[in-house]
Amino acid sequence: MTIVSERIIGDIQGAPGGPLLLLVGGIHGNEPAGVQAIKQVFEVLREQQDQLRGRVVGVVGNRPALQHGARFVHYDLNRCWTTESWQRLLAKDRQEWMGEDQEFFELNTLFRELSQGDYTQRICADLHTTSAENGNFIVVPESELQLPLVHGLHLPVVVDLAKYLRGTLLQFLALHGFVSFALEGGKLGTPEAVNLHEAGIWEIIRAAALLPRGVVSEHNPHPALLAEIAHALPETVQVRYHHRVQPRDRFVMRPGYKNFMPVAEGEYLADDENGPIHAPCSGLMFMPLYQAQGEDGFFIVAPPAPN
Ligand SMILES: [Zn+2]
Repeated sequence: MTIVSERIIGDIQGAPGGPLLLLVGGIHGNEPAGVQAIKQVFEVLREQQDQLRGRVVGVVGNRPALQHGARFVHYDLNRCWTTESWQRLLAKDRQEWMGEDQEFFELNTLFRELSQGDYTQRICADLHTTSAENGNFIVVPESELQLPLVHGLHLPVVVDLAKYLRGTLLQFLALHGFVSFALEGGKLGTPEAVNLHEAGIWEIIRAAALLPRGVVSEHNPHPALLAEIAHALPETVQVRYHHRVQPRDRFVMRPGYKNFMPVAEGEYLADDENGPIHAPCSGLMFMPLYQAQGEDGFFIVAPPAPN
């Protein structure tokens, strides 16, 4: 459980004429590792402010859910970023706001403000962890696949997840001029997840030239971590199959699946109230659901077919 009351972890403005880096942690309340990593990075950034070119803003996502240690209280704060949900919220009497409404309102307002202003580039890293092992990867829109920033992270890249998930923060920020990606830092609740997020943030700071390279090298506590982890993982994958679930399905993933583990067509993967669920195609297991809340049972991904 993480106690968080402040929305802004840090907001440091260096020399003008640089990029804006927005770091978001804890959009899912059972994933406090991102918040912790952002705090640790800001401890260094505060000391190095005179060397900083651009601005770094660190934000806490779902505070009530973080306090409960749950993915969300009433609704998933990473599936609500649509115009319809925003208008529905604004049409609602404030007295009736509940659960995530206040969080959605504050974050939406803040991100719109940050989409204004004069920066060479706007970058957002949305930090998450997964409920399965081997959860180190980044999710980027296909249009941003070639960015040096993305390759600098050395992690497997999942390119077309956006087609399968509606209302993610990434989609909203992309529409508001941010180069945005989700950085998945591994399995939730592990100390490695904090380290991996921290290493990822430092790589982004380096790639975006927010600080001189020497300063980054001096302060990144885990400089080789990303490359080490990525060693045995695929470089780029696309989604082949998405198994959506609803609470009434009583979906249960069979134990032992990790991200990027090979699966064969027909393999017995999970059960729900209609019986066993078999893999409709072969590929690599991705984001198998091992927590109570969530709409995605699992994905099957694969490297893109050669042209
Ligand atoms: Zn998450």
